[in-house]
Amino acid sequence: MSLANLITRGGLRGLATATPATFATHEPFSTSTVATEATIAVAKAPDTAANYPAPDSDRWCWPHSSAMNGAEIETFTTRLTRLTDKGLRLDDADDLADNLVRRDRDLDDRRLCLECIHLAGQSGAAWHCKNWQRAGVALRAKDAQLATAFVLQLQRCEGFTIHV
Ligand code: SF4
Repeated sequence: MSLANLITRGGLRGLATATPATFATHEPFSTSTVATEATIAVAKAPDTAANYPAPDSDRWCWPHSSAMNGAEIETFTTRLTRLTDKGLRLDDADDLADNLVRRDRDLDDRRLCLECIHLAGQSGAAWHCKNWQRAGVALRAKDAQLATAFVLQLQRCEGFTIHV
């Protein structure tokens, strides 16, 4: 006797339980037709080859326009995080990061202390240069405090090291 017959006659009662299979939906399952597949194929632009490279998302951005390109946006975002981590208000950090985009486009080699790994302190309460000798901002470590205006000023500094 087959297993199906045992189940049907209750021969497995007490030994195992079985639930008759039912359709998940009222409609019987049907496979895709050739016509459905053809519809999907037609949805692709007929003049676009399958191996055509993806369009360059920066094609309308700097240097072709003033819009920030992908690399600039990434740098902008990183700087915004750095500037707000250092205690700047978001609006101020946003303005400053914008200025830095313009600086980079102008190939200006000046930097901010806020971009430097040697800047200690936050929110202007205790700006301090940890590379004060090389920077030449003080003669003694205890005198290496930096004014907020100085920290926000583009400058060239011998002690600068980019913060990454
Ligand atoms: S090393 Fe120069 S750029 Fe860096 S924090 Fe000191 S003064 Fe600023």
